[in-house]
Amino acid sequence: MILNKMTLRDLGPHEISNKRVLVRVDYNVPLDDAGRVRDDARIRATLPTLTYLKDHGARAALLSHLGRPRGPDPKFSLAPVAERLGELLGESVLFVESTVSDEAKAAIERLPPGGLCLLENTRFLPGEERNDSRLARELAEQGDVFVNDAFAAAHRAHVSTEGVARLLQPAVAGFLMEREIQFLGQALHAPRRPFVAILGGAKLSDKVELVEHLLPRVDRLCVGGAMACVFFQALGLGTGESLVEPALTPQAKRILDLGAGKVILPEDVLVADRVAAGAARQVVPRTAVPEGWAVVDIGPAAAARFRREILGAGTVLWNGPLGVFEIEDFAEGTAAVAEALADATEGGTLTVVGGGDSAAAVAGVAQRVSHVSTGGGAALEFLAGKTLPGIAVLSDRQVGRAPERDA
Ligand code: ADP
Ligand code: MG
Repeated sequence: MILNKMTLRDLGPHEISNKRVLVRVDYNVPLDDAGRVRDDARIRATLPTLTYLKDHGARAALLSHLGRPRGPDPKFSLAPVAERLGELLGESVLFVESTVSDEAKAAIERLPPGGLCLLENTRFLPGEERNDSRLARELAEQGDVFVNDAFAAAHRAHVSTEGVARLLQPAVAGFLMEREIQFLGQALHAPRRPFVAILGGAKLSDKVELVEHLLPRVDRLCVGGAMACVFFQALGLGTGESLVEPALTPQAKRILDLGAGKVILPEDVLVADRVAAGAARQVVPRTAVPEGWAVVDIGPAAAARFRREILGAGTVLWNGPLGVFEIEDFAEGTAAVAEALADATEGGTLTVVGGGDSAAAVAGVAQRVSHVSTGGGAALEFLAGKTLPGIAVLSDRQVGRAPERDA
């Protein structure tokens, strides 16, 4: 299921071979103090697309943003990324110190078939984020075909994600983009049942649309994280010093009404006298959160309940850590649920994890679940049912087109 958009696979060999292919990737990777790539997961995730393009003789120019520079700034250069990509591909990758320029155009022109270069940070371009049409035209002139493999940037209508794709057709999904849409799309639109969603994280306010979009689709919604505290308040329970959003109590009440019977709140929670390593901790029923203490994790009974739901599910979709998992003392609930996901996957359950912090929280079991989205905020928007401009703009696929006949 790819929302009938064309993918790389739909292009014929003549549409790739020797063509100048502009490839939008998401190389917004963390750098260390020495300016080296600290985590190359996002680079690795694009290798299937890049290898395919190389094998089919494309001349590929890669585009990405990195960080939030205000204009050109060497701290946000993609040069270290070109180096790391070269190591992963086993060949040096040409880095071009500009993005839309005569220099870039000539560099792409000079690439041999199967050659590859990385252009400088798209956010160094003043028109990128306001989707300037002139910039889009200039960028489009540097290529013959557009491939978008940057699912994590697809919720932004920028020149390199949207504007250029309007002008440079065919514009197709790369393999990472395709994989993301397939897994997230299957969970949303064709889940094997029971369909269980696990939601946590800090703020319900970030996720009201997500919850409201999921609620009618799921059979069970297990809620943890600080988000659960808003629901506790909606039930009239005390939440001590927990992170709460009192303004959202009406929404939480509404969700509980709409989700009659589907919503499972933690029956017990871990509370701490302060949100820091080494704090005093205790497990209490959700009805007995003491004054002056904060909920920092789900409790063991809740973790066991969530595990039962997960093991009985056909599909599990998880967003949002169930506690302050960055602090080891408060990470047990999140770890237990991650383990349950891995076990369920082994038993044949489709398990999908989305969200930036969630991906970090399940890093230890990433190979043992069906899919960990690289999409961050874009994945949340997709799951909330929003149209992502970087996907919407891709060329429509014409499946099963009837052969032309005389009228
Ligand atoms: P994602 O990025 O996966 O969508 P969120 O950003 O919504 O996830 O939530 C992640 C954050 O939620 C983490 O930083 C975590 O510490 C925080 N969090 C989870 N449970 C609690 C809690 N009980 N109290 C305070 N913060 C929490
Ligand atoms: Mg987050």
